[in-house]
Amino acid sequence: MVGTDDVEVERVLRAGLLECDCGGVLRPWGRARERALRQAGGGEDRRSPRRSRCSSCRRTHVLLPADSLLGRRDAVGVIGVALVARAAGSSIARTAARVLGVPFATVRGWLRRFAVVADAVRARFTVLAHDLDPQLGAIGASGSSFGDAVEAIGVAARAAALRFGPVDAWQLAASATGGRLLCNTSCP
Ligand SMILES: [Zn+2]
Repeated sequence: MVGTDDVEVERVLRAGLLECDCGGVLRPWGRARERALRQAGGGEDRRSPRRSRCSSCRRTHVLLPADSLLGRRDAVGVIGVALVARAAGSSIARTAARVLGVPFATVRGWLRRFAVVADAVRARFTVLAHDLDPQLGAIGASGSSFGDAVEAIGVAARAAALRFGPVDAWQLAASATGGRLLCNTSCP
């Protein structure tokens, strides 16, 4: 996962500042195929993410910007609007109406998937929040595991903001899960 500023991504990649899982240095390696990312309001952002190749293990990695999730066409901020609305008690239909331009079935798919991974998400972001802010007290329970998971992401984002300055909660959620917040194949 990398930031959303292409110029900065290019700079750190060329400077050899990005690391592979194996610890090797990532080098520029072309671009992935173009994909569209649906933004709030239904507009699309077309982009070809940077590819990189590890100088030690030789594996290639696509550098996914932090405003997107693996395998999802919508920006994580759009998905986050739906998750927050659902956590606040909106029905699936009213939640879907909040995210303009996204089909009902797509929104329902996010909500169902998040419900499945909610406990794992809550656990992960509770640990992250306490790592970022050791003074942090217990995180209040909302009465549902879905709501608790959304709350834990928010608390972690506030802890990150205290430490590093302004943080987008949903970009943090994407980054901290390696883009796998809503993945079907492995837990975040
Ligand atoms: Zn490597």
